[in-house]
Amino acid sequence: MGTDTMTQATVLILLGPPGAGKGTQARMLEDAFGLVQLSTGDLLRAAVAAGTEAGKQAKAVMEAGGLVSDAIVLAILKDRMAEPDTARGVILDGFPRTAAQAEALDGLLAAQGMAVSSVISMEVDDQAMIARVAGRYTCADCGEGYHDEFKQPAVAGVCDKCGGTAFKRRADDNAETAGARLAAYHAQTAPLIAYYEGRGVLERIDAMGSIETIRDGMAAIVSRVSA
Ligand code: AMP
Repeated sequence: MGTDTMTQATVLILLGPPGAGKGTQARMLEDAFGLVQLSTGDLLRAAVAAGTEAGKQAKAVMEAGGLVSDAIVLAILKDRMAEPDTARGVILDGFPRTAAQAEALDGLLAAQGMAVSSVISMEVDDQAMIARVAGRYTCADCGEGYHDEFKQPAVAGVCDKCGGTAFKRRADDNAETAGARLAAYHAQTAPLIAYYEGRGVLERIDAMGSIETIRDGMAAIVSRVSA
């Protein structure tokens, strides 16, 4: 986020447990508002796939459902935020996840005369989250999301959106690891709800409804806060 135009940039944070729909909603907001989705989970998976030093250190922690160290995550995030496509604003999906990350983000933004625009807390039911995460998979070509139980492609084995026929599942999307990820969320990330509430930037959304209803609620918030 290195340019002068950044003073007007929107910084939206999606907060919620695994399976709340952060990625799905971020993708829709990205298209609608010209913002860039920035998922630390995606960045870490890319680092693991590329076999970088950070990726090597993160791999086992991610497979166990724990949180990768703040130092690694912050370094990856900072690099990504420095890229020019973030100039209009970002949707942070899966970051911050700890108090230290939230404070570091504040510092990073303040150094550029910026601040968090809004934090949307996606409120969901824990047990439903495990079921959602355990069955999900995505199109390997376009990233469209599917689920064994809740959302199969209209034609079996063919992506509705791009016609692709290859699909992939995340290594950590199984019931056991999902439980550990949920526990990490409650222990380390949920306290951020109070942190942002205290700053007057928190919005709550019932994220148990349909994807479209949630999208409309979120779009109303983003319209209000975006420059
Ligand atoms: P996600 O794609 O957001 O579900 O993240 C997948 C995994 O990447 C998490 O279970 C963590 O191991 C790791 N991860 C992603 N974002 C963070 C973060 N902000 N802090 C620490 N670990 C993270």
